[in-house]
Order: sequence, then C-alpha cells, then structure tokens
Amino acid sequence: MAEQINPFEMAQKQFDAVAKQLKLDPGVAEVLRWPMREYAFRIPVRMDDGSLKVFQGFRVQHNDARGPNKGGIRFASDETLDTVRALATWMTWKCAVADIPLGGGKGGIIVDPSTLSTREKEELCRGWVRAMWRNIGPRNDVPAPDVGTTPQMMGWMMDEYSRLVGQYTPGVVTGKPLGGGGSLGRTEATGYGVIYTVREAMKHLKMDSKKSVAAIQGFGNVAQYAAIGFVEILGGKVACVSCYDRHEKKAFTYSRKDGIDPRFLLSIVDEYGTIDKKKAQDAGYIIEDGDAWITKEADVLIPAAKEGTVNADTTKKMSSRVKLVAEGANGPSTPEADEFFKKNNIFVIPDFLCNAGGVTTSYFESVQNDMNFYWTKDEVLEKLDTKMTQAFNDVLDMAVKEKVYMRDAAYMVAISRVVKAMELRGWLNAGW
Ligand code: GLU
Repeated sequence: MAEQINPFEMAQKQFDAVAKQLKLDPGVAEVLRWPMREYAFRIPVRMDDGSLKVFQGFRVQHNDARGPNKGGIRFASDETLDTVRALATWMTWKCAVADIPLGGGKGGIIVDPSTLSTREKEELCRGWVRAMWRNIGPRNDVPAPDVGTTPQMMGWMMDEYSRLVGQYTPGVVTGKPLGGGGSLGRTEATGYGVIYTVREAMKHLKMDSKKSVAAIQGFGNVAQYAAIGFVEILGGKVACVSCYDRHEKKAFTYSRKDGIDPRFLLSIVDEYGTIDKKKAQDAGYIIEDGDAWITKEADVLIPAAKEGTVNADTTKKMSSRVKLVAEGANGPSTPEADEFFKKNNIFVIPDFLCNAGGVTTSYFESVQNDMNFYWTKDEVLEKLDTKMTQAFNDVLDMAVKEKVYMRDAAYMVAISRVVKAMELRGWLNAGW
C-alpha cells in the first residue's frame, strides 16, 4: 500500500464533510469528531516460557447518547490508538444507522494472536477485563469479537467479568460461543448482513444476482459468510477471495475458473483465516498475488479485510465492469477511492451500513441474555434481514432525496439520529 492511511484522520475527514453539508453547529460537530472517553493500559502476562511480558491495551468509547457503547476488541500487531478511535467512531454511526439502541466503542491489544498459546490468550483476555471491568458492563459498554478475536475469547472475558462483579453477567460481552450465552446466527451475521444489503442494492440497480460475479478481499469471518451468502442466497458466482497468509506474511488471491467453492475453502482455513495453500492448489485453485482480487472481471467488489485497502493505487487496477462495492470491512476505501467511485458512477454500500449485521445480531444476543430466553437461528436471521433491509432503504431514501453519495447519506441518517438523542438527553445544553 503506497498511501499512508491514518484511519482516524479518514473518519474525521468523512465526518467533517457531512457535518458541513448538514450545517451542523460547530460545537456539536466538535463533540462528535472526538471520542467521549479513551482508556490506554498495560496488561502483564506470565508467558509459557516463564517470562513476564507486558501488552498494550485500549478501549475507546466514542458516544453513548443512544445507549451503551458497543464494539469489538481487536488483537492485531499493527493496532494503534488512532485505529481504535476510528473504529469506535464508526461503531457510533453503525449502531445509529442500523437503528439499534447502542453507542460506539472499540478496543484492542497490540499483539499477533497467532504467536500466543491458548493459555497465554486466555490470560491476555482476562487481563484486558481486569483493566477495564469498572468501565464496561451491560448498561455501560459491551465488547465483542473483531479482527484476531474469537467467540472462545469472548467466553473467557464474560467469565472474568462475572467473577469480578460476583454474578453471572452474560450481557457484558457478545459474540460468545453457542452454549456459553451466544446467539444462533452470530457467526453468519456480518457476512449475511452484507449480502442482504447487496440484494437490496441489486434491486435498486436492476442487476440480476444470478448473473453476477463478485470478487472478495479477505477470508475471515465476514468474507467467509459473504462468499457463502453470495453463492447460496443470491445464486451468484464468486470469482476469487484474497487471503492473508500468516506463514508467508503476505496475501494471496485464490480463484477458479467456474468460481470458488466457499464451503470448501472454509474447510481448509485455519482459525486465523489462513487458507491451506497446498490443499487449495491440489483442488485446482489458481494462486496469485494478494492485490490481484481487485483486478478480476466482476460486477461486485466486497472488500472484507482491513482499512485503507481500496485506495488511489488499487482503484487504478479495477475492472470497468464493477458496478457495486459492498464494504464488508471497516474503512476499506480511502477518500481518494470515494472520488473514483463517484466519478465512475459506482454504487457503494458504505461500511457502517454494509457490515452492521454483526453488531445487530450482537444486540439480539444481549436482548436474549437479558430475557434468558433464546431464539432459533431462523428467527435471528429473519430479524436481521428486516433490520438490514430497513437500514439500507433509510440510507437509499436519503441519498435519493438529498441527491448525495451513499456514504454521505449514511452519515446523514446516523449523525441526525445521534444528534437527536443528545438533544433529547439535554447534552447540548448542559453537556453529558
Ligand atoms: N466487531 C464488529 C463490528 O465492527 C461487531 C461489533 C459488535 O458486535 O459489537 O461491527
């Protein structure tokens, strides 16, 4: 990636442009362009080799006017405070656009989880909770999985919090394992949510999903179920997925002439999202450079890896066939990429709308935890579809009414809802 992208600067830049269009009071804009609270702390862990290692942890709470802060915890070696700030900010907009009664938060630890043993991972998860437990909780801030974290880790975190407060509190963390307070459908939720919005966008663009081809970046949880959904729900073809290989420390693109078989690839991927290259090769997959995904002949691009990957450099390589970009990742497209999409009339389903299925199902999980009554998978996915369809159409209506780009329309819907909640709570007179 040639451009140096600071995701928080990007989040502020996107926000500032829309604040101006909305003629937002400069004071209110200043409140929203920064997080309300930020925590940075160190977590000592006794490693298996006997040494004591100290890890850097974060939690950022961007805005909780609409309800408890909500958002994942990432374990990533390139995590920074600014990345967490950006992601926390996007969570505020994501929950607002999905119209769920939650605010925005995000956490992280600077670590490559694949370098840790299971016991070390558990210690680190419990350490994160020991540092933060006074500032999280079902009515304060509810973490969840994100890049590098898993349902099992959420289970340990929930257990540590429950021990510290002295009572079983499943609603403190979502994305927990099934049988350990988790919700059916949570695994599929983000990827299927992407697909529900793609289906709605295709109706609007009059595209035939059965004749459509998608190219997907990433093969983590979101990309896996977006690929499965594109094939099984929409009846389309997935030309390729691009996947980071943790052994070779670079990404590769996996394609097959008649389209990839996402369930097969899912069966040969490890828990960190690395595809078994040898098995893929034996099954006839063509393996190319990681960036090749964006060059494929496709109608739909689904960047579902990390932030900043669709930028001034990579958009130059895009096929002119692309009509729709569905952002499964958080912040995959830079402002320069937005300019390219606008100029080339490419329809974008912006990240915090497109990937809101995860947090929406997290919300369903916490509702089920509070009721202590659990829904079937079909009930969860049906409720998810209703929410995603409504959110997509709210944003599309705004885009049509105000004649604005979809990302700006999503911001307009989200910002208006958050400002209204702050107004109703009296924050704009007396502060919070
Ligand atoms: N980490 C996911 C996201 O970025 C899910 C957050 C959640 O479920 O709270 O949306």
